[in-house]
Amino acid sequence: MSMEISTTLSEQPVDDTRLAEILENPGFGTHFTDHMFLVEWTPEKGWHDARITPYGPLSMDPATAVLHYAQETFEGMKAYRQPDGSVATFRPEANAQRMVRSSARLAFPELPVEDFVQAVDALVEADERWVPEAAGEKSLYLRPFMIATEVFLGVRPSQHVTFLVIASPAGAYFKGGIKPVSLWLTEEYTRAGRGGMGAAKTGGNYASSLVAQQEASAHGCDQVVFLDGQEGKFIEELGGMNMYFVYGDGRIVTPETGTILEGITRSSVIEIAEGLGHKVEERKISIDEWRDGVASGEITEIFACGTAAVITPVGSLKWDGGEAPSPTADAGGELTMKIRQALVDIQYGRAEDAHGWMHRIG
Ligand SMILES: *Cc1c(COP(=O)(O)O)cnc(C)c1O
Repeated sequence: MSMEISTTLSEQPVDDTRLAEILENPGFGTHFTDHMFLVEWTPEKGWHDARITPYGPLSMDPATAVLHYAQETFEGMKAYRQPDGSVATFRPEANAQRMVRSSARLAFPELPVEDFVQAVDALVEADERWVPEAAGEKSLYLRPFMIATEVFLGVRPSQHVTFLVIASPAGAYFKGGIKPVSLWLTEEYTRAGRGGMGAAKTGGNYASSLVAQQEASAHGCDQVVFLDGQEGKFIEELGGMNMYFVYGDGRIVTPETGTILEGITRSSVIEIAEGLGHKVEERKISIDEWRDGVASGEITEIFACGTAAVITPVGSLKWDGGEAPSPTADAGGELTMKIRQALVDIQYGRAEDAHGWMHRIG
């Protein structure tokens, strides 16, 4: 069954000249399209009142639950302009399924996978002119999210939930060429513990990462890398990206899931790497294995991945009292760049979609 979606089109859509200006240099997360999608949930009515409306502020009572207890979950995905002018998203069902898992962890009702995909499709269709040309790795970033909208200060799962989708044109993550990111190893902060929310895509995980990111910046590093909460020994992930280590013998190692976010880019990289004949090991990898592997030359490339950057090479690692150099100097490693290209070519419809990952809209 599909959702009934009502549409109220904006009476003041951005004019063509201004839109062209925005799409020329969209940046990230600062410009929003003309419309948004909303649907409400209550125990009595289930999901109801699905609608596309003009983009604009939400009016909220100050006692709205999400503002106090952070019952929230979100997704991040992109729509890509295809060579024939059409628009497609990448593995939207995987985002929908992940939101079902995050929702369960956050004690939210389940939004059916097909409703999630339909909502995203409807917004992209309404704001199709906001999808930039493919050149320069531009895309339309999509942000589905679910929030606790009951007006109530008690602590229990919200009895009113709102799911929204907003969209924002995005420029290339790397301006002026791909450059490895430098990392700061935080030994003070962790992002998730056993039984915590590490595997859920929820704002709280980001709130707790901010101070660690500040620590990274204070040490002149681009991003922070977290270790496991229990022993402080095993690599988890960056604030919003999963990690990969390439060995000289062609093996690739990535931290196993459990307390890390199950990235869709992460799982796509595994399939692509295996397709290229590489053995991928999902297991614990200690910080000593990183330091020793780089020192001995056994680790030849390190990269991180997520929807925003696709894949970014990882350069040097700094910690309190030491530094491990980048295994690949100023550039991305050969395999890193090969996997990146393979993925980007599929997303922009320049390579055959052998995995059936692309979802055409309209
Ligand atoms: C979203 C996210 C990722 C990357 O997931 P993708 O599905 O590849 O975009 C990695 N880590 C965290 C903490 C995230 O929130």
